[in-house]
Amino acid sequence: DLRVRFAPSPTGHLHIGGARTALFNYLLAKKEKGTYVLRIEDTDVARSTQESVDAILQAMEWLGLSCDEGPFYQSQRFDLYREKVQELLDKGKAYRCYCSAEELEAKRDAALKSGGKPKYDGTCRNRADQPAGLPFVVRFKSPQDGVTSFDDRIKGTISFNNEELDDVIIQRSDGTPTYNFVVVVDDATMGINLVIRGDDHVNNTPRQILMYQGLGYPVPEFAHVPMILGADKARLSKRHGATSVMAYREMGYLPEAMVNYLVRLGWSFGDQEIFSMEELIEKFSLENVGRAAGVFNPEKLLWLNQHYIKTGDPVRLGELLKEYLQMQGVDTAGGPELAAVVKTLQERARTMVEMAQGAAFYFRKELDFDPEAVAKFLSADKQPVFEALLGQLESCTEWNHGGIETAFAAVMEATGLKLGKIGPSVRVALVGGTTSPSIYEVLEVLGKQESLRRLRNALA
Ligand code: GLU
Repeated sequence: DLRVRFAPSPTGHLHIGGARTALFNYLLAKKEKGTYVLRIEDTDVARSTQESVDAILQAMEWLGLSCDEGPFYQSQRFDLYREKVQELLDKGKAYRCYCSAEELEAKRDAALKSGGKPKYDGTCRNRADQPAGLPFVVRFKSPQDGVTSFDDRIKGTISFNNEELDDVIIQRSDGTPTYNFVVVVDDATMGINLVIRGDDHVNNTPRQILMYQGLGYPVPEFAHVPMILGADKARLSKRHGATSVMAYREMGYLPEAMVNYLVRLGWSFGDQEIFSMEELIEKFSLENVGRAAGVFNPEKLLWLNQHYIKTGDPVRLGELLKEYLQMQGVDTAGGPELAAVVKTLQERARTMVEMAQGAAFYFRKELDFDPEAVAKFLSADKQPVFEALLGQLESCTEWNHGGIETAFAAVMEATGLKLGKIGPSVRVALVGGTTSPSIYEVLEVLGKQESLRRLRNALA
């Protein structure tokens, strides 16, 4: 059975690339009815924070990528790692290295100067003595000849000459284990049989394979996903826009738009662009993950978001709208029904933030009048039209589109004014400015009482 994992380091927010890796793992696990494990790689105690852990878990939840097992924390598994380091030492597959940082640096400089690749020279490899009291690191004894290769599920066969591989440090002088080692111990003991991760780890893979072998573990399969680049083809970074997944939530993006966007950054299925989660689970495969880097395109993400807002369930969007309105300091209590509000705005809003900006007027007790609009459309000469309209609307018994339309028709008839003359003034009275959904919709959603109140107030 397929067992995959996502293994973020909690040293910051979950960013676009990490979220995509998580999503690929999740989709494949669901598709193959396998298991998706979440593991927090917090061995680097200095750089890991609980805040980052929380942020990552929150982002996972927002995207709907719940794990089947975990989250596991490496910081709680140090005993196991120590045991495994000892096992390698006992087997003669690892050794203590007493070289000081200065010595290592001098060797590095010398190697660089002579044009060679800097690599640990193996001074302590065959050292017989174990000097007491001296600090040491533990290094993995890497074979010095032969080739290590693997068939990457995305990139094809990748080979490394062992001679180029260093004797990697598996335990630091403070006793803490390093990434390349713990990742092997964890993936093996958690039964992971396919490792899907970013291709920035390709160079680590041969070292890890040698450690699987050294520890007598079966080697999993690997699938290295190409990086994500900005439009300028540089690796995606802050200057290309927000890279944290949750920043997009704040900007008013829906999780389904984010998921749909992320999956297409590297995976394709014909020319289809829109996928529901169910469809993705059915259609996702590593065979259709491209070998080229994905290019981050914020316009496309925005387009997808608009699509999901336009086609979204008004009740659900209404619940979200409430949160976004609250973030903008607008209280929705006592206001019109949220789903009804959504229906008047979902055709146009590209983000939930835009929708909330457009919806605020429905809920404000005191409108935020645009002075220019007031001067232009609410001058004293509008009094007679407003009075006629108030009269008609007051006697309107069916407060719906038809009833409202009939009231306006009667006013147009009585005043000889076209809707184009009356409408803008009514809009300013109802919303405070010149942009809003159609005024019939606004009146209907605001309800009779509130609509009449606003119309009366406008000319008071
Ligand atoms: N903690 C590593 C990272 O965030 C995980 C790499 C891996 O998946 O092996 O890059």
